[in-house]
Order: sequence, then C-alpha cells, then structure tokens
Amino acid sequence: MNGEVPGFRGQLLLPADEGYPEARRIWNGAIDRHPALIARCADEEDAAAALKYALTRKLPLSVRGGGHNVSGSALAEGGVVIDFSALRGVAVDPDGMSVRVQPGALWGDVDSASQRQGLAVPAGIVTHTGVAGLTVGGGFGWLSRRWGLTSDNLLSVRMLLADGSRVRASEDENPDLFWAVQGGGGNFGIVTEFRFRLHRLGTHVLAGPILFRAEQAREAIAFYRDFIREAPDELSVYLNLRTAPPSTGSRSTFAAPTCCW
Ligand SMILES: Cc1cc2nc3c(=O)[nH]c(=O)nc-3n(C[C@H](O)[C@H](O)[C@H](O)COP(=O)(O)OP(=O)(O)OC[C@H]3O[C@@H](n4cnc5c(N)ncnc54)[C@H](O)[C@@H]3O)c2cc1C
Repeated sequence: MNGEVPGFRGQLLLPADEGYPEARRIWNGAIDRHPALIARCADEEDAAAALKYALTRKLPLSVRGGGHNVSGSALAEGGVVIDFSALRGVAVDPDGMSVRVQPGALWGDVDSASQRQGLAVPAGIVTHTGVAGLTVGGGFGWLSRRWGLTSDNLLSVRMLLADGSRVRASEDENPDLFWAVQGGGGNFGIVTEFRFRLHRLGTHVLAGPILFRAEQAREAIAFYRDFIREAPDELSVYLNLRTAPPSTGSRSTFAAPTCCW
C-alpha cells in the first residue's frame, strides 16, 4: 500500500509516518492495533474517497469518532481507518432549537457551544466521549431521565453508505435507516453529520458526589433503590461501588452515588 487515495485532501498516515503513533492511540490504552492507513478526513468527500479505497482493495475498514470505544473498534488492524478527529464543528441554531454536529466532535464541543445559549442535548456523563459512537449506540447520561436517550433526540443524519451513495435519514426521509442508526451502532453506514434537538436546560445544575463508607453500603443502596423510584426526572443519581478518590484520605471501598439536577 502506498497510501495514495485518489481525491483525498486531508492527512494520510502510514505506519512509518510522523504522527502515526499518536493517531493510532485511543482512550483504551490496552488496545494496540496497527492500521495500514489512517485517513484523517478534512470533509465528507475525503470519507467517501477513503471508503472507496478500502472497498476496492477489500481492506478491513473502521470509523473513528471520539476514539472512546473500550473494545477499540475505531481501529481496524491492518485496515483503513476513516478518522474524523479533525472534524469537530458544532453549529447551534437557537431559533430552530437544533444543533448540527460534525462526526469527530466530542460532547464537550457540543456542550460548550450549546450552553452559551443555555441549551443542551442529552449526552453521556463525561465530556470527552465522541458524539458519533455514543449516538449510534443509543447514549444514556445525566439528562436522559428528563429528555430520553441521545438517539431519541436525533433529528436527522447525513450518511455515506457502503455502495458510496450519500443519503439523509430522518423520520420523513429513509425512516428505516434512521431507526437503525438510533442504536444500531456503526453497522448501517458512516454518519457524516448529526442534527439534534436542543432543550432549555439553563446554565446551572447542582451536581456532585455523595460518599459513604463501605460499611454503609447496604443501607445506602437500599435507600437509593426506594428514593430513585419516586425522584423527579430532573434528578439523576448513579450508584457506584468503588475505591474512594485519594482526596478522602482512605483507600477503602465506598458506595458513592453521584447526583445531578
Ligand atoms: C470514560 C467513558 C465514559 C462513557 N460514558 C458513557 C455514558 O455516559 N453514556 C453512554 O451512553 N456511553 C458512554 N460511554 C460509551 C461510549 O458511548 C461508547 O464507547 C462510544 O462508542 C464512544 O463513541 P466514540 O465516537 O468516542 O467512539 P469510537 O471509538 O471513535 O467509535 C466507536 C464505534 O462507533 C461507530 N462510529 C463512530 N463514528 C461513527 C460514524 N461517524 N458513523 C457511524 N458509526 C460510527 C463505529 O462502529 C466505531 O467503531 C463511555 C465510554 C467511556 C470510555
């Protein structure tokens, strides 16, 4: 493979290239895969060119959004990676209460753009997860009790299909495909743009951890079970059993529910 992808204008990274070791690094540091080519796209045309290149040569193909998937599915061993990490644009439309998001954006990119207007999309629990993988997998987070899964708030997508065609999908256009992409993972095509419904969250939330000692776990869990059943949808509480952070001065195991309003 010589790394020449006809029509490609972004950055092509081969194993011997400077920047390749960083480009194949993802959130899960235990994943050690060596793609034959990382195609860092500058636009949708590049993604189409890289897709065609991989299909023509019958190479394994993967798509990288935020690179957060624990299984390392963003990196095809010996194959072509369509890398969207350079495409992180977010365009908020406060009048239309919607936001358009490029496929390499992280949730922090969406949150910081939408929060300027006091708006939000229900996403996950941390800012560094990719919009793409989380959305096509459903997506559950702090605002989901109130406003549903991330995929419930998807209004439309632009997609590249395996035959090279480009389509839109929404409730009104290719509704079967739209249904499939709302939780079906990356199996139905490559999303090149997401459009989400925005909600009026405001700019202030009350959030933080409530820590209990390990000996209190039974009582805390029983309380949580009863409390969360009646709690308003604006309140999210996750229960964790984990080693306490060092700031508590102890390494014993705690039951640590984290809450947010
Ligand atoms: C620390 C951490 C916290 C997390 N918290 C949450 C949480 O609160 N809620 C939650 O729901 N999930 C959470 N997750 C899981 C996360 O949503 C998934 O791992 C998701 O796949 C990450 O998306 P990504 O774009 O970063 O992943 P990537 O690794 O880049 O991609 C994963 C897969 O998504 C698909 N994909 C990516 N981009 C596209 C695209 N443009 N078109 C089509 N398919 C694509 C591909 O199949 C790809 O292999 C968390 C993960 C981590 C590591």
